[in-house]
Amino acid sequence: MSLTQLDKPVQFLKGVGPRRAEALKRMGIVCARDLLYHVPRRYDDASTITPLARVEVGMDVTAVGTVKNKGIVPTRSGLRIFQAVLQDDTGIMTCAWPGQPWLNRTLQVGDRILVTGPVKFFHGRQIQPREHAVLARAPTPRNDPATAGTHTSISSTPTTIPPPAPTPSGTIFVTYPASEEVPQWIFRRVISLNLEQLLKHVRDEDHLTPAARRALGLPDLPAALATLHRPPSLDRVDAARRRLAYDELFYLQLLQARVRYHATRARPGIAFQRTNNLIRPLHDGLPFTLTGAQVRVLREIYADMASPHRMNRMLQGDVGCGKTLVALFAMLLAVEGGHQAALMAPTEILAEQHAARIRGFLARLPCGVELLTGSATGRRREDARARVGGGEARVVIGTHALIQEGVEFDALGLVVVDEQHRFGVRQRLALAERDPAPDVLVMSATPIPRSLAMALHGDLDISVIDELPAGRRPVVTRLAGPEKRAEVFQEVGRRLDRGEQAYVVYPVIEESEKAELRAAETEYERLRSDEFAGREVALLHGRMPADEKDRIMREFLESGIQVLVATTVIEVGIDVAGATVMVIENAERFGLSQLHQLRGRVGRGDRGGLCVVIPGGVGEGGEGTATRERLEVFARTDDGFEIAAADLRIRGQGDFFGAEQHGHGTGLLFADILVHGDLVGPARERARALVDRDPELAREENALVRLVLERRYGDRLKLFGVG
Ligand code: ADP
Ligand code: MG
Repeated sequence: MSLTQLDKPVQFLKGVGPRRAEALKRMGIVCARDLLYHVPRRYDDASTITPLARVEVGMDVTAVGTVKNKGIVPTRSGLRIFQAVLQDDTGIMTCAWPGQPWLNRTLQVGDRILVTGPVKFFHGRQIQPREHAVLARAPTPRNDPATAGTHTSISSTPTTIPPPAPTPSGTIFVTYPASEEVPQWIFRRVISLNLEQLLKHVRDEDHLTPAARRALGLPDLPAALATLHRPPSLDRVDAARRRLAYDELFYLQLLQARVRYHATRARPGIAFQRTNNLIRPLHDGLPFTLTGAQVRVLREIYADMASPHRMNRMLQGDVGCGKTLVALFAMLLAVEGGHQAALMAPTEILAEQHAARIRGFLARLPCGVELLTGSATGRRREDARARVGGGEARVVIGTHALIQEGVEFDALGLVVVDEQHRFGVRQRLALAERDPAPDVLVMSATPIPRSLAMALHGDLDISVIDELPAGRRPVVTRLAGPEKRAEVFQEVGRRLDRGEQAYVVYPVIEESEKAELRAAETEYERLRSDEFAGREVALLHGRMPADEKDRIMREFLESGIQVLVATTVIEVGIDVAGATVMVIENAERFGLSQLHQLRGRVGRGDRGGLCVVIPGGVGEGGEGTATRERLEVFARTDDGFEIAAADLRIRGQGDFFGAEQHGHGTGLLFADILVHGDLVGPARERARALVDRDPELAREENALVRLVLERRYGDRLKLFGVG
């Protein structure tokens, strides 16, 4: 399809010259479409704007007025304060910007500005703006809007001050994301000069039919964009934003649906045949019954595996909910069907633990289990490889070396990936390249809300175990102030006397990294000669060589070490039955989900675990409050999904998308999972249906979708590796 009007460089828009075009480009606004989608980040109207006459000390206000007077006020302490007197139709008000004298150059008498900030008392009331935006420039004699982009506007101050524009009730002030180079008023002007024209063109890009829009309760695209730039009222803004959120989710799902298509549909998978000759005896021999959630996800997995399509599924659930057992059933289904199954763990110790457990479960069944790790060498390694290649080994367990270093399988049918976040999407895709391509089940012990999981992992199907086996003893969690530290360690000491083991976790390795943080190395030295003198104490952190880490972890596992002083390296998966207590220092430094992961390390035995979190200094104000809230949630609940929901609420979605190791940030501009979570499912269904019918989006009816996908999401398209 040819270049549309919306693909034209911004330079050709009214009010944008070559210089301004360059500045816009630096903000990521290259073509007309980019400008159209550059929508305001905040809206104010009479309900949020305080008339200047009603501004009172102690309030936090947003106000709009015209600069009547301005100047720099020096203080005795040498601080230079920029002050401006604002006027609206109710009165006047001083605004003060301590330490920002340069504003004297950027703000002019006659400018109409919006300010937001606290009202203080200092020789009278004054607003100290946290932020401000120039809504309109003072009218100057020679200021042709058509060339506004080409000159900087340190213009002469007009001698006559225009009266403040009336503020009719219902007027809405929009604030665009702006930069030093492209200030607020430029955006307002350029948008107002071009909006009508751009909206006409975007009409052709609306991929939703009226029927589809009605079903989703969304406005059409031109209406949504018009509302966002020029809202007739504030209550219309949310619905308009919802439309853009849907589009964004839809296009991202479209990219992910194509990844999924290539992984699961492009080539035939294996339709596994179930005979029950392994599954049945394993099931009947279990000393417990499966939880309802385990049964449900097993049904989902079996159905996937029985279908001729490749499985690409994620199994999510809290530590200890029984994911590994579910994976074992899936592996047995593969084996029953005549194939081999592999289980990939992020570390050798973890692989060994899995192997030991699985051998226990399969002890009396005709199913060869093989452990393949890097540490086996020589003859033993050759023999193991031969058993895998010859098909004697049906279930093979190891680290990722298992599938990377050309281990020959006889008939690999299923790969299970434990702790999937330790592996990238690329490794997952690499599995699809094998011939024939095995089914894939990835496991994650980091529960996240379903809508978020679907947004992040659109290429995967998701199964969730949201139930723990009956009779589990929850880990007791306590918050203790730093003044209680001595008592806490005494309590740990008493547990050590009873033969239990402890973790003490620190946020950093060395003291110098952050002065006020307790560091693992220093505290290790201290604990060893003080609180835990005479006991077996060891240090574990991420900068130690792998074999050293391994040795220490093994010793801890075999109870040779009583106290393990560590950083977050212990986060991943090892079960030490004797470890019953964990102390987390400077707990405010950890995210909620991370704390939960750490806590999952204790209480794996039957003695019940204890986790004590000791925050360092928790600051006042917004951040301090968020920290306290986070730690309180953590102490209150042991439910990973509740923790994840709270984490999302407190931190916002940014961190979740940022933390993904996908190598392609899915950074969402419009969609907020907390607000628009209900749109993820419909977006995904529609995207998948579309891709399943027309994988290359080659049909005429999908030309539009393809165009917008390439134009708006082209860079991400490349990152997804499918063109
Ligand atoms: P995860 O992999 O999710 O951390 P596991 O599969 O390792 O959990 O299970 C943790 C422990 O609980 C194991 O000892 C396992 O045998 C046991 N287990 C699994 N399912 C059940 C169940 N339904 N009832 C009781 N115990 C179970
Ligand atoms: Mg596990």
